[in-house]
Parts: sequence; C-alpha cells; structure tokens
Amino acid sequence: MIPPIARRFVAGDTSASALSHARGVNDEGISVILNRLGEHHTTPEDVESDAAAYRSLADAIDRRGLDACLSIKPTQVGLDLSADRYVETLRSVVEYASDRDVFVWCDMEGSATTDDTLDAFREIAAEYPWSVGQCLQSNLKRTRADLEALLAVPGRIRIVKGAYDEPSSIAYVDRERVDEAYRRDVEFLLSNRDRGVAVGTHDPAMIGLARRLADEHGTDYQIQMLMGVREDAQRDLAEQGVDVAQYAPYGTRWADYFWRRVRERRANATFAIRAILGR
Ligand code: FAD
Repeated sequence: MIPPIARRFVAGDTSASALSHARGVNDEGISVILNRLGEHHTTPEDVESDAAAYRSLADAIDRRGLDACLSIKPTQVGLDLSADRYVETLRSVVEYASDRDVFVWCDMEGSATTDDTLDAFREIAAEYPWSVGQCLQSNLKRTRADLEALLAVPGRIRIVKGAYDEPSSIAYVDRERVDEAYRRDVEFLLSNRDRGVAVGTHDPAMIGLARRLADEHGTDYQIQMLMGVREDAQRDLAEQGVDVAQYAPYGTRWADYFWRRVRERRANATFAIRAILGR
C-alpha cells in the first residue's frame, strides 16, 4: 500500500493501479509516462525482474490501447552492474516495446552515470530509431555539448533542470544559473531538432518559452510534468491543444522518489502533510 503521504505523487503500488491511473489521465487528453519505481539494483535478479515488469507493462499498454509509454532508470536495469549489462537490458526492453509501438524513455541519474547512459542511448537509438528517448539535465555544465553531439541521433530528447545534487565544479548550483542554462538548452533544442523534443518542467516561464519557440520554428514538442504537480495546468494545456504527458511512477519503492520531490519544493511537503491530516 502506498501511504497517504505519497499518494499524490505515486500511481499505486501495482502495474494494475498504474494502468488504471493512465486510463483516467488519458481521458483528460493527457498521455502518460509510466515509471516503475526502483534504482541502484545490484543483483542480476532485481535487474531482470524490473526489465520483465517493463516488458509486461508494454504488453498491457498495447492491449488496452493506452496513450502511454515507459520511463526507465539506468541503474534500475543494470548500470550499477556494468555498462554492458545496461545496454543489453535496455535493448531487451526497447526491442519488446517497439514491437508493440510503445515508446521507451531513459531517465538521467547522478553525474557518475552520464557517460554510460548517453553511450547506451546512442547505441540503442541507432538500432531502434525513434523508439527510445533520453533525458538530459541543464544543471550539468557539460549538457550543452552533449545536446550538440546528440543532434544526429534518431531518438527523442527530454530536457529537465536536474534533480540530483552535484558539485559546483561540474554543475550550476544556484537557481538563476540553472534557469539560464535551461532556457538556453530549450532554445537550442527547439531551434535545432525538428522532432521529438520534450520539455520536462512545471515552470510557467519555461513552458511559455517552449510554446513560443516551438511555434516560431514549427518544432514538434511535448510538455512533460510529474503526477501530483500542477495537474490543473496539465489539463489547461491539453485543452489548449498542447501535447502534454504526465510522468506517473508506481510501485512499492516510493520513498526515494517521494523525498526527492519534497526536497525540490517545500509546497510538496505541505501537500503530503495535508494528505496525512485528510485535508
Ligand atoms: P522548479 O525550478 O522546481 O520550479 C519553477 C517553477 O515551477 C516554480 O517557481 C513554480 O512556479 C512551478 N512549480 C514547480 N513545482 C511546483 C509545484 N510542486 N507546485 C506548483 N508549482 C510548481 N530530473 C532528473 O534529474 N532526471 C530525470 O530523468 C528527470 N525526469 C523528469 C521527468 C519529468 C517529466 C519531469 C517533469 C521532471 C523530471 N526530472 C528529472 C526532475 C527535474 O529535473 C526537476 O527537478 C523538476 O522538474 C523541478 O524543476 P522544474 O523545472 O519543474 O522547476
């Protein structure tokens, strides 16, 4: 059972609850990105168990005709074992999902994983063009160069501000600098890639910027937001004809994800406390 404190942000503890959440969100004109909670798996059994769960989720999405895709954490499917193990497992999920027309996103974790994550994305996107997408984080100073290097790769790119604490030697740490880098990266993507750009943010200024730039350049794009965060804005954007997707995690391993959201923003803690008090 997901405790009341986390229910706002987590779509239940089973794939059945996640799929039923997806149906409800689809009914509001919003597509869904399903993530099975889990990271830093260090045994082949845990890696294979989550990979198998993603394959069966792809099957269920296809059978139910949902407007949904998957989002996977690299260390959930092998990166903490080895880079080869990650590529192999990711390939098994993407091959299975693409046969069913289900798209697969790869999340981006801490900076120690960035090189291996991007190498795997390049390799799998070359084998399964436009069936896989990669998240990149604007708080990392390297990201602009990474975005340039990925221009020729046939996969989608999600740009986010970045949720991991990183040292100032490799990352922008103050809010203004992160926002500035994010603005620059959104602009770069929307003016240099003509398809498959996803802008993962709740920031009204960044969403406005993305909409303006996409109109100006005629770029195909999607706004992505998290379950439990500005859901009214998600619905408003969808009503205005913007392509919106909601990232909805599910599963029993909710604690790390939940505390990341609380650390990000005090208001998220307030929502959680209200949920405990039943208000
Ligand atoms: P912030 O700078 O946190 O906030 C800017 C403004 O947005 C606020 O001033 C407010 O107006 C509005 N806002 C933000 N949160 C709320 C709220 N709870 N309620 C009301 N208004 C709010 N990070 C990673 O490191 N790796 C990933 O793979 C990854 N994937 C993601 C996928 C998606 C779909 C999304 C949406 C985020 C993902 N993130 C990921 C998290 C991301 O890096 C940020 O930590 C997170 O999105 C918060 O940044 P922000 O852009 O929303 O804006």
